[in-house]
Amino acid sequence: MKITIIGSGYVGLVTGACFAEVGHNVICLDNDTQKIKQLSRGIIPIYEPKLEPMIKSNMNDNRLSFTTSYKKAVHNANVIFIAVDTPSKKNGDADLTSVKNVIKNIAENMNGHKVIVQKSTSPVGTNYLIKNLLLKSLKRAKKDFTFDIASNPEFLKEGNAISDFMKPDRIIVGIENNNLSKLFDQIYKAFNRKSYKIQYMDIKSAELTKYAANAMLATKISFINELANIADMVGADIDKVRNGIGADKRIGYEFLYPGCGYGGSCFPKDIKALNHIASKHNYVSRLLNAVDNINDDQKNILFKKVKSFFGNKLKGMTIAVWGIAFKPETDDIRYAPSITLINSLIDSGVFVKSYDPIATLSKDFNFDSNKYKEYKTASAAAKNADALIICTEWKEFWSIEPDKLKKLLIKPIIFDGRNIYSPDLMSRHNITYIGIGTNNLDSH
Ligand code: NAD
Repeated sequence: MKITIIGSGYVGLVTGACFAEVGHNVICLDNDTQKIKQLSRGIIPIYEPKLEPMIKSNMNDNRLSFTTSYKKAVHNANVIFIAVDTPSKKNGDADLTSVKNVIKNIAENMNGHKVIVQKSTSPVGTNYLIKNLLLKSLKRAKKDFTFDIASNPEFLKEGNAISDFMKPDRIIVGIENNNLSKLFDQIYKAFNRKSYKIQYMDIKSAELTKYAANAMLATKISFINELANIADMVGADIDKVRNGIGADKRIGYEFLYPGCGYGGSCFPKDIKALNHIASKHNYVSRLLNAVDNINDDQKNILFKKVKSFFGNKLKGMTIAVWGIAFKPETDDIRYAPSITLINSLIDSGVFVKSYDPIATLSKDFNFDSNKYKEYKTASAAAKNADALIICTEWKEFWSIEPDKLKKLLIKPIIFDGRNIYSPDLMSRHNITYIGIGTNNLDSH
């Protein structure tokens, strides 16, 4: 099949590459000329495991190409997926500027019947907004073409996006014209081989399903983080508590890891957007507010622990931070807890030495080089630091040699925002180890 994807970011590129991989003929469009120039030369502007070889091999097989031309992209296919950004506005609502721009451009270039599939995460009702906007734009352009709309929210996780897309837990498709099911069955045929994954539903339910999934996952994170803070206060160990509750099948172990808060381009903005949807209907979502507020506080937890440990001595200290990306296996730093932490450290007069295998803050933040520096290796960042903070649990941090690390640090102190080390091991090596909900420091 011929498929067009509009928006070539994390979702658009993965969707385009995976559709091409199963034999579809895909054109990906973006209005970022530089990005398309790079992609056309086989340079992938983001880091996502397995994405680069998949894009390159499908480009070589002429099943995947990139363009900035709406005419080319719209004329290419009868099915057009929208995968553009839907960031947060100041009031928490989703900003649909990019989606609206896409629709205007599609209308201007329509040359026949199209199925417009919204893959971007957007508030309930957005598909009907798309429908009305497209109808108006076509009328204005005196074009007499028909179209269908569909909602096909994306559930991939950055860092595991290719596997998630190729082996989805479910494929949610919201349609108002039941005949479209044949089309989606065909598009997703290769992904349904083991078992039929598509769930058809009405458009509004599909739109809400995406927000509901992210809200549930964010709630789990804020729940375990709240419990971790209570564990710290009462002198319990959250990792033992986690095992204790996870054994109950109704609760399970998944997504119950205490840490320094969730970040990324989805949870923070989607929780705010769902909250905004509720408030537009005069409903105050106490749960979503709590999830959001707990997370805002949790992003400060590492700094609070550092401050309570060092007191007023922070000014003039050097502290190493391992991990900048909002989670491992991605270069995405959007809403990353590391940003909150590093800003607070710098504001307190600390010199921050950071290391991340892939991500960088230097492109987006103009830190003074006397206050912040990024290093090429974890050891170089840790060398001569007064303490080490783990912010992202990249695999290479999991099996350090405690004695080697001790020699690098001026003081053997680790603040672990992801609880990746054993407190017993650290204590055997005389390293002061402060995790999230695993230390009884405050209660002694
Ligand atoms: P992104 O910012 O990485 O990519 C969006 C792309 O759209 C950018 O390359 C941008 O240049 C392009 N764009 C913006 N306006 C355009 C226009 N008018 N015409 C053409 N291109 C345009 O965003 P993303 O992370 O891929 O997310 C896209 C959507 O998918 C969002 O709604 C997001 O919430 C949702 N989503 C993201 C993830 C994720 O893990 N990143 C997962 C599921 C769903």
